[in-house]
Amino acid sequence: MSALLENPTARVRWLAAPSSPAWLEQAIARPDLVLIDHAHCERKAAGVALQLMFRYPSDEQLGALLSALAREELEHFEQVLALLQRREVPLRPLAAPAYGSSLMAQVRKGEPQRMLDSFLVAGLIEARSHERMALLAAHSPDPDLRELYGELLASEARHFGLYWVLCEQRFGREVTVERLEQLALAEVEALSGELAQDDLVRMHSVGVTPAADSARQSGRR
Ligand code: FE
Repeated sequence: MSALLENPTARVRWLAAPSSPAWLEQAIARPDLVLIDHAHCERKAAGVALQLMFRYPSDEQLGALLSALAREELEHFEQVLALLQRREVPLRPLAAPAYGSSLMAQVRKGEPQRMLDSFLVAGLIEARSHERMALLAAHSPDPDLRELYGELLASEARHFGLYWVLCEQRFGREVTVERLEQLALAEVEALSGELAQDDLVRMHSVGVTPAADSARQSGRR
């Protein structure tokens, strides 16, 4: 496998551990399933941006940025949907992995912590999407999929950046970094374990290389 797989956290520095080769193999083996899930992810990301706009309705800067974000996520949804239609793959509901709900459970209830945590969780999900799309863009055997993921992955990095900036402006760098590091560990925890069945592979299904192992691997190089 390429250097990208050996050390994808070099590209996505806030993730506490890289995705595992097992996840990539599972995802490449079920491309249509991952594509359907990806369509759902884009739509959910738009929903999260809208929810946050409604939760903090008088914050104009937030409203402007999240409105643009929601539109972009929906455009991506349409792009993925168009590819599904060209491939004659019907969009169908899929059981979501525990990832989203276990991350949401980390969000503290009282403000302003709730805002900080919600932004950081949304940002970490974007960062993981970016990392995994980069793997798919590099390793998918299908050129259409390489092209789609290659095109979309840069946006995911920008989306992480947007949530990061929102946090830094409101909470300062120190508070933001400290909480991000805690939540990044929870994010890896949410991706730990082994896939119970091949058809449960998703954009955010389990599959990470524990940080200690990846440090050993990079030490060996
Ligand atoms: Fe996104």
